[in-house]
Amino acid sequence: MNCATIDATESALRVFREVCSIPFGAYPSIEERRGIPEGEHVDRYVPPSVGPDVFADRLGDWLQEFPVAILGGCCGTSPGHLAAARRRSMMESSGEIDRQSA
Ligand SMILES: [Zn+2]
Repeated sequence: MNCATIDATESALRVFREVCSIPFGAYPSIEERRGIPEGEHVDRYVPPSVGPDVFADRLGDWLQEFPVAILGGCCGTSPGHLAAARRRSMMESSGEIDRQSA
């Protein structure tokens, strides 16, 4: 799933989890598109709607909830967003994040 909003991507992942028999992953867009008509292409910088920590939290949640083969970022993501997501995924895999007490 590529270049959809975080919420739309999560909805698609819920469907993929039920119906996909092949590996899948997601690269959400986090452009702040309020005020831009849906589907309209823009040839300018559109700032991100969420910061690195929120982005990393959502992707970290997806790692727990969905059998994703790969996660990344599309429009609006920065190296800082991806670095935060990587740190979060490493914490998830090392058990540093205790889901029971969260
Ligand atoms: Zn994109």
